[in-house]
Amino acid sequence: MAASHRVSAVPLMSWLSRRVFHPLWDVKDGSRRLRALRELERTQWLPPQELRARQQTRLEHILRYAAAHSPYYRRLFAAQRFDAQRFDPAAFAALPLLTKGLIRSSTDEMLSDEFSREELGQHKTGGSTGTALVTYFDRDWLELRTADALRADQWAGCFHGMKIAALWGNPPRPRGLKQRLRSWLIDRFIYLDTIDLNDHSIAQFVARWRREQPEILFGHAHSLFILAQSLAQQGIEDLRPRGIISTSMMLLPSERAVIERVFACRVTDRYGCEEVGLIACECEQHAGMHLSIEHLYVEFLRPDGSAAEPGEEGAIVITDLFNRGMPFIRYRVEDMGVAAARPCPCGRGLPLLERVTGRVADYLKRRDGSLVAGVSLVERTLTAISGIEQLQIVQPTREEIVLNVVRASDFNADSEAALLAEFRSVFGPGISFRTEYVERIPQERSGKYRFSICRV
Ligand SMILES: [Zn+2]
Repeated sequence: MAASHRVSAVPLMSWLSRRVFHPLWDVKDGSRRLRALRELERTQWLPPQELRARQQTRLEHILRYAAAHSPYYRRLFAAQRFDAQRFDPAAFAALPLLTKGLIRSSTDEMLSDEFSREELGQHKTGGSTGTALVTYFDRDWLELRTADALRADQWAGCFHGMKIAALWGNPPRPRGLKQRLRSWLIDRFIYLDTIDLNDHSIAQFVARWRREQPEILFGHAHSLFILAQSLAQQGIEDLRPRGIISTSMMLLPSERAVIERVFACRVTDRYGCEEVGLIACECEQHAGMHLSIEHLYVEFLRPDGSAAEPGEEGAIVITDLFNRGMPFIRYRVEDMGVAAARPCPCGRGLPLLERVTGRVADYLKRRDGSLVAGVSLVERTLTAISGIEQLQIVQPTREEIVLNVVRASDFNADSEAALLAEFRSVFGPGISFRTEYVERIPQERSGKYRFSICRV
């Protein structure tokens, strides 16, 4: 479940779709996914050196695959004089990083010639960067990555069939699916829409929780916090999940403490993004997040491109070891993070990510004081409205919101009208909107973008 500078709402929807829609495919693919899950349950206990050796073999394999089947990498490797047949660590470390901009400009070229586009699955994300991005994956990758996320669910005490309370910003809209699927979906979840957090919606959520007693609470870190804070203020102490999964944005220690106190339950923090799936997750020890190195090769880089030491902050760069449909090699996910050298007390061989740093989510405010999750709003806007490449929401005063828009090539008058209509419907009366067309959204000092800035 994912979700990323990115504070992405998408991992949330990805997770929901995995738990809700994918079980419908179980007849066809369930056994394969289950096999992958059993394998991951075994490999997590392998010694670190054995996991690293397997990771290295898979890294070399995906590099050879990319050289053979992806025109983009064939061209890149030739230009860099990189020989995928003979792995050289220094040459690998010198390969230019894959960025969202490069993905956007080179999508067709990146795709493997082994697949037609119709055979591939697609992710479209807005993400916390506020940058629209479409990426692809093959079906085998989806099964593996789903199994990986299911393993992480288990670490949080979440098993198949449990009722889940979810906080998310874009209620499922199963367009084109049958109505009974919709009702089944609604039965499986109780949810609180983070686009519309207010006393009334929270009261409704609490009432439904008491009736249906969900076992797992799932949501954006900051949304979990806002809910916990509201419950604490009202003296509500009877909501008792067995597990809490926090995702899609940095979980601040202070906020974590409030959430754990109010729900009397530990929070399991996880980190991922739609393009490469789950990256790391806490186990039941909550001593850092185990990196999914069976499927990913993860680097932490200094600004000069050299490798950061454990304990030192670095830009997170991911090579996906299994996505053949659209190989991701040295992909800069636009998050900063810190690797840990120590082992986890649980005894698993998977190395630890100490923490993700520099992800920020700001909530915007309506005139009545209720809150709107910027991450969810940007996500919804970018995926729903064409012609917008990047969006940043700035709220300088309670009465005013500025939309900084980077136009895509297919931008037209309808794009702006749709954008403004969307914002007016979300914020209601009393707020004026101004659109600014900009060449780019400036990054923060951390190198990240903020999708939403509230100065009120
Ligand atoms: Zn552990």
